[in-house]
Amino acid sequence: MIHAPASPHPPTSVWTAAEPLPATTPLEGDRRADVVVVGAGYTGLSAALHLAERGADVVVLDAAEPGWGGSGRNGGQVIPGLKHEPDELEHKFGPETGRRMWQLSGGAADFVFELIARHKISCHAQACGWIGAAPHAAALQSLRSRTEQWQRRGAPVELLDRQRIAELTGTTCYVGGMLDRRAGALQPLAYVRGLARAARQVGAAIHGRSAARKLESHAGSWRVVTPTGAVTASTVILATNAYTDDLWPGLKRTVLPVQSYQVATRPLPEDMRRQVLPGGHVVSDLRRILFYFRLDPEGRLLMGGRGPLNDSGDPALFARLEAIAARFFPQIGTPDWEHRWSGRVALTADHLPHLHEPRPGVLIGLGYNGRGVAMATVMGKLLADRALGASPVEVGWPVTPITPVPFHAWRLPAMALVVHWKRFQDWLDARRSA
Ligand SMILES: Cc1cc2nc3c(=O)[nH]c(=O)nc-3n(C[C@H](O)[C@H](O)[C@H](O)COP(=O)(O)OP(=O)(O)OC[C@H]3O[C@@H](n4cnc5c(N)ncnc54)[C@H](O)[C@@H]3O)c2cc1C
Repeated sequence: MIHAPASPHPPTSVWTAAEPLPATTPLEGDRRADVVVVGAGYTGLSAALHLAERGADVVVLDAAEPGWGGSGRNGGQVIPGLKHEPDELEHKFGPETGRRMWQLSGGAADFVFELIARHKISCHAQACGWIGAAPHAAALQSLRSRTEQWQRRGAPVELLDRQRIAELTGTTCYVGGMLDRRAGALQPLAYVRGLARAARQVGAAIHGRSAARKLESHAGSWRVVTPTGAVTASTVILATNAYTDDLWPGLKRTVLPVQSYQVATRPLPEDMRRQVLPGGHVVSDLRRILFYFRLDPEGRLLMGGRGPLNDSGDPALFARLEAIAARFFPQIGTPDWEHRWSGRVALTADHLPHLHEPRPGVLIGLGYNGRGVAMATVMGKLLADRALGASPVEVGWPVTPITPVPFHAWRLPAMALVVHWKRFQDWLDARRSA
C-alpha cells in the first residue's frame, strides 16, 4: 500500500502555531533532476539542502505538506548519541567505523545547531542540555558507564545524583541521571519548515501532495511516478522513516512503527515554572517504555510516552500521560491540558539508524528509534554526500542490507505482549531499587 495521509497538514499540536510555509504545488508532468527525494521531513530536507547547496538539481516529493510526519510533531528534544555506548560501537563495528559512528552521532546536536545558525532558521533552538533520567539503580549503573565513556572522549557530560536531578527536573521520581550539555531543544515544526525554506532558497524544488506511487528503473536512471507527474533522476533518496510504505519492496518490514503520544498543559504560572525544569533542560528517561518531558518556550509542560503500534488515538493513552505528569510533578496540581497528539517513531531490531543502498542509485536512510531530530538531520547530509560520490568509507556510516524485523507480520499481537512485559520489568526494577 502507498502512504496516503487523510490531511496534508500535521495534526493540531502545541507546535502548529509555527509560521506557515507557503503551500507547495503538486508535481505536474514529467521532469528530470539529478536527485529525487521521497519524504519531506528532516532526513529528506537535510539531504535536499546539502545537495542543492553543492549545485545538484533536486526535487523533493511528499504525500502531504513538508513536516507532516514525525518531523512536524515530535518533542523537539535534540539529543546526540545513540542507544549504543561508544565502546560498544567500536567493539561491534571495529575501531574505525565505530569511531566515525560515535563521532557522527555524538556531534549530531552541534550539527543541528550550526545548520540552524547558518541558515538563520527561527525555531527557538537552544543548547539547554538533555538529561537522561534513571528511574532505578540498574539504569543509573548503565548511565555511569555511558558518562565515563563520553567523558573519556572529551564530551561535556556529567553524572547527576538523586539530589541534583531533583533540583534540575523538579521531580523526585529519579535516582540519578546524566546531563549532556551538547543537547537541547527546538520547535520541531518551525525547524522542519525552516529546512524547507532553506532548501528552496538554494534551488531545491519541493512538491507536497505528491505521493510517490511507483519507482521504476529506466535506462540507468530511476523514475518516480506520482498521481500527476514523474521525476527521472540518476539517484533516488527514500526518506520516509516510520511512514514507509510499499514503494521499495521489503523496506517497510525493516522498521517497527510505534506510536508516541504527547500532551501539553496551558502555560504554567511563573511560580510553577521556577519549580519544574527551572534550568530549561529537556528530559527522557531510561524506562524500557520511556517517558519524556520538557517546557515549551511559553512555559507549557509537555509530557510524552510510547503507546501501541496502531494509530488508535485511544483517549485512555492521553489520560495515562496526564496521570503520570501529575505523579511526577505534584506541585502543578491539576492543570488544564491544552493539547493531545501523536505520531509514529520507527524502531529497528538493532536500535541503530539504517543506511541502505539496495541498488546503485537508490539510497535510503531511516530507523531513528525515536531520536531523529539530530540524527535524521545528520543522515540527510550523509545521503547527500553519498549521492554526490563520496565512498561508503568517507560517508562513515555502515551501509547495511535490507533485512526484515523478525516476525514483522505478527508485530501487532507480539508488540502488545512485549509492551506489557517491558512495563512489568520496569515495575520490577523500580521495586528492587525502592
Ligand atoms: C510524538 C513523537 C515525539 C518524538 N520526539 C522526539 C524527540 O523529542 N527527539 C527526537 O530526536 N526525535 C523524536 N521523535 C522522532 C523524530 O520525530 C523522527 O525520528 C524524525 O522526525 C524522522 O524524520 P524523517 O524525515 O526521517 O521522517 P518524517 O518526518 O516522518 O518524514 C517522512 C515523510 O515521508 C512521507 N512519505 C512516506 N511515504 C511517502 C510516499 N510514498 N510518497 C511521498 N511521501 C511519502 C511522509 O508523508 C512524511 O512526511 C519523535 C517522534 C514522534 C512521532
